[in-house]
Amino acid sequence: MPTIPQLAGLDVIDDPDVLEGLSHDEAEWAPYGKALAAVRPRTTDDVRRIVRACAERLIPIIPRGAGTGLSGGANAVDGAMILDLSRMNRIVEIDTGNLTATVQPGVVNNDLKAAVAEHGLWYPPDPASAPWSTIGGNVSTNAGGLCCLKYGVTRDYVLGLEAVVGGPAGDYGTVVRLGRRTTKGVSGYDLTGLFTGSEGTFGIITEITVRLRPARREAPRTVVGAFGSVVAAGEAVAAVTRAGLLPAALELLDRATLRAVEEWKHLGIEADAAALLLAQLDTPGDEEASAVAEVFRASGALWAEQSTDEAEAEALFAARRLAYPAFERLGPVLTEDICVPRSRVPEMLSLIEEIAARHGTAIATIAHAGDGNLHPLIITPAGDDQGRRAAQAAFEEILTAAIGMGGTVTGEHGVGLLKRDGMRQELGAGVLAMQVAIKQTLDPLDLFNPGKVIG
Ligand SMILES: Cc1cc2nc3c(=O)[nH]c(=O)nc-3n(C[C@H](O)[C@H](O)[C@H](O)COP(=O)(O)OP(=O)(O)OC[C@H]3O[C@@H](n4cnc5c(N)ncnc54)[C@H](O)[C@@H]3O)c2cc1C
Repeated sequence: MPTIPQLAGLDVIDDPDVLEGLSHDEAEWAPYGKALAAVRPRTTDDVRRIVRACAERLIPIIPRGAGTGLSGGANAVDGAMILDLSRMNRIVEIDTGNLTATVQPGVVNNDLKAAVAEHGLWYPPDPASAPWSTIGGNVSTNAGGLCCLKYGVTRDYVLGLEAVVGGPAGDYGTVVRLGRRTTKGVSGYDLTGLFTGSEGTFGIITEITVRLRPARREAPRTVVGAFGSVVAAGEAVAAVTRAGLLPAALELLDRATLRAVEEWKHLGIEADAAALLLAQLDTPGDEEASAVAEVFRASGALWAEQSTDEAEAEALFAARRLAYPAFERLGPVLTEDICVPRSRVPEMLSLIEEIAARHGTAIATIAHAGDGNLHPLIITPAGDDQGRRAAQAAFEEILTAAIGMGGTVTGEHGVGLLKRDGMRQELGAGVLAMQVAIKQTLDPLDLFNPGKVIG
């Protein structure tokens, strides 16, 4: 790597093995290039120096949190500088008077949750990757999670951001503060909203102020429903919505998922049914839990019960969180992240089964089902080229079907590299042109995470 004087004193990594590990996320199908080096800043000023130095040399900059992304969003391009933000992991302030927290981007989601819990507060966004993923990564992908059905996604909690940006005058390395700390505020365009979910393509987020809620007073109740088919579970999801019930979480796991997790972790889960629905209810009393169980039964559940065994309920939610790594052990996983209108969940689940059968691919499905956000996981044995082609064809067909139902190609993981074609299909020429115009204005040199989202 050429000497870059402005990086003197920073933690620069050019060891090829370490660099390789930092050059990609968890999306096993997404390509990645050979990075020049990685650097681990600790302060906003470090980031400012790095961005300025890279801009002078036209070195692409790839921001990275924990690298748990599932779309190739943090994947390197050739000759890039990887900006590993995991060392910027300080909780700057927990403001109990205003129910906010301000953090550096590398703070891990669960660490923020634990810190605010000590003050009787709660940071709700809970991607299944919460033990590892960072708030910077969560904001940059606008991460969802299990309880966003009732409590919203990351965007609903982001009040303000500090970022190191580029244009419009090509003035790379400028530090800006976007948004606010107040509960309300409409001064100017919503640039905080624009940066949230921008996947590192507009600049580097160096500080984040999030809204908090008071901690839940009661432990949530869990209702488990077992179904004879995945489609029947989907019918129950649609029926819960129609009944006006609002669980904190409503998750679906199919039999293949339960088996994969059980074979790996031995949590004691019996995988007899074709699919399980897990509902979490957090309104006081048992009324809501009983109503959900009743809707499950009326929708044809083999059985539906409120769990009285906390350990069992926790094991089932653990299985949901462990689903992706459980399949990763079996071969490369191509992860879908479609989101369809909730009434069309059963239809989409049925179509996924039909597509899997037609292409001869193994597809397991987990879902934030209550949101209509489905994750068919397409699994191919390593080295099976024909299987890979079939998986790609199935992947694309599922995206097209979701768009056809009025849905989207990505509910929470982001476009990254894997869903660029799907996004183009979904958005159309007019919206794509607006996106390109915004990118060219904010990053005229195309240095911030080039080739992701658009391009
Ligand atoms: C087991 C597992 C479960 C998952 N469950 C969920 C889930 O339930 N819901 C969900 O939404 N996602 C889920 N994901 C996907 C992933 O965890 C999320 O996308 C998460 O938000 C990524 O955070 P990260 O810190 O790993 O970011 P990374 O993967 O490192 O980066 C993600 C994107 O953000 C950009 N970025 C990161 N930090 C910054 C920054 N400071 N400034 C600018 N850009 C930045 C990167 O360039 C990249 O484009 C899961 C992943 C795994 C492996």
